Amino acid sequence: MARPILLAVDDDVNVLEAVVQDLRRQYGATYRVMRAASGQAALDTLAQLKARQEPVALICSDQRMPGLTGVEFLERSREFYPDARRVLLTAYADTEAAIQAINSARIHYYLNKPWDPPEEKLYPVLSDLLEDWHAGYQPPFEGLRVIGHRWSLKDHAVRSFLSSNHVPYRWMDVAAGEDGSKLLAELNLDPGRLPVVLFPDGSALVDPEPDALAARVGLSIQATQDFYDMIVVGAGPAGLAAAVYGASEGLRTLVIEPQAPGGQAGSSSKIENYLGFPAGVTGADLGRRAHIQATRFGAEFVTQRATGLRIDGQYRFVQLADGREVSSHVVLLAVGVHYRKLVIPGAGRLTGRGIYYGAALVEAVSCKDEEVYVVGGANSAGQAALHFARYARKVTMLVRGPGLAATMSKYLIDEIARTSNIVLEAFTQVVEVFGEERLEALQLKGPSGERRVPAISLFVFIGAAPGTEWLPPEIVRDENGFLLAGPDLKAEGKQPEGWQEPREPFLLESSVPGVFVAGDVRHGSIKRVASAVGEGSIAVQFAHQYLAGF
Ligand SMILES: Cc1cc2nc3c(=O)[nH]c(=O)nc-3n(C[C@H](O)[C@H](O)[C@H](O)COP(=O)(O)OP(=O)(O)OC[C@H]3O[C@@H](n4cnc5c(N)ncnc54)[C@H](O)[C@@H]3O)c2cc1C
Repeated sequence: MARPILLAVDDDVNVLEAVVQDLRRQYGATYRVMRAASGQAALDTLAQLKARQEPVALICSDQRMPGLTGVEFLERSREFYPDARRVLLTAYADTEAAIQAINSARIHYYLNKPWDPPEEKLYPVLSDLLEDWHAGYQPPFEGLRVIGHRWSLKDHAVRSFLSSNHVPYRWMDVAAGEDGSKLLAELNLDPGRLPVVLFPDGSALVDPEPDALAARVGLSIQATQDFYDMIVVGAGPAGLAAAVYGASEGLRTLVIEPQAPGGQAGSSSKIENYLGFPAGVTGADLGRRAHIQATRFGAEFVTQRATGLRIDGQYRFVQLADGREVSSHVVLLAVGVHYRKLVIPGAGRLTGRGIYYGAALVEAVSCKDEEVYVVGGANSAGQAALHFARYARKVTMLVRGPGLAATMSKYLIDEIARTSNIVLEAFTQVVEVFGEERLEALQLKGPSGERRVPAISLFVFIGAAPGTEWLPPEIVRDENGFLLAGPDLKAEGKQPEGWQEPREPFLLESSVPGVFVAGDVRHGSIKRVASAVGEGSIAVQFAHQYLAGF
């Protein structure tokens, strides 16, 4: 691949030279460092690079320049390279403008000048940004190809699985062009059995089961040991925090998770209110970072779904989807929630064929220049609407209530108001969906009665349900399936049946000793990334106390 480019922009020749030298010294081996002496010159350079399809990873611009200011230039640079990391160089006097620019120009970072020594003040920040850019960058294609059909449920599942596990692939929709069909014919593969996953070595998996695909793309599906100190079920923010703390404090920790680590946060295009990320962080980045961190401390991850929990004396056995079992003294249930389904005529049949739950970010590119409908008025719906607005011609948000004020954070409401291709329809519900092979129309009920509108994609965010149906009855839950823990077990008047410990359950302990609960799946939890992270780490402290009794 051509070396990605780092572009430095400053009208002061001496400062520009200093930036270029610092960048070359640290990154010259892997990146090409380019320069421009004004915002306009830099825009011209970006236009030429874009025409040659050259990758730009980072743009570093001074704020005070004649003509375009740094903020104005960085904002316009997004037209050419929306994914490049944008850094503003400022004097202390411009700090306020820089913070504003985090919103207006979506800059990723601002650095106060001077940045000496660069080893402390420049490189750690830039290296972090470049790592992020690399994680999202799709180089010219050399890897996996998926041949399928946009409106097939199985195709959607395969593509979601690959992208949620950060496995790059190129998707070939047989309905959208002839390349996919031609390739199938060349390889003598049956076009009636899709999706097909083609590997660079020429081998293929036809309509693969998740396990087979996971194993083939190198994900670990089998635990290396039979017994662990702690098994964490679910690698959302709660499970990941527990894995980081547990493993760093010496617990042999196994994490069971069928998707890429990150949980619901992983489907979030941007989390803007999590501590320490002033420019926001995508859920996928947060999950990736925590996964690396936990692995570095020795936590082990398997790509599997837990399907059962068996209690035998002091041992807890977790059953996995492939029929195997792993055991431990402590289990942490951090399985979070999944989206509630629309219960209206047609919705079941068209799920995955135009109706999607959660942001289904993988579908965003397919929606280019189309109209997209988003149902729901909470933060997750707002984030999705903003994400789809980058691709779709128009995004219509359907909200049952009067508006977004009561259910959505203000920063999202403001950004939606600033986004011209998002339209809000208040007091409006979807009451039926139509289509044979795929979604074709919606029946909407609004203030002026019912109407039918043509529709291709509907993304649904109408609340969440806990994923606890697989747990045994000994694990007490509330009427909605959320797990009771600690004081809540007593508050419900249910001193756990069969509880034989001479002590009360610990704060996050379930009705079974040694089985803990953290995050969104817990009855009464605050549904936020930070609270899930907090609970995951607190649960580890109680796990230690529990294990001390052995
Ligand atoms: C689109 C969206 C945007 C959001 N934005 C924000 C935001 O900006 N700020 C904020 O603070 N919060 C936000 N939230 C809420 C936040 O993401 C959640 O509160 C948080 O992710 C809860 O973490 P958790 O670990 O408890 O559960 P989850 O994130 O739900 O993770 C649970 C994990 O368990 C796995 N799992 C489930 N069942 C099993 C099983 N049987 N076996 C193995 N694994 C299993 C799931 O695959 C999942 O990865 C958002 C949520 C969504 C959906």
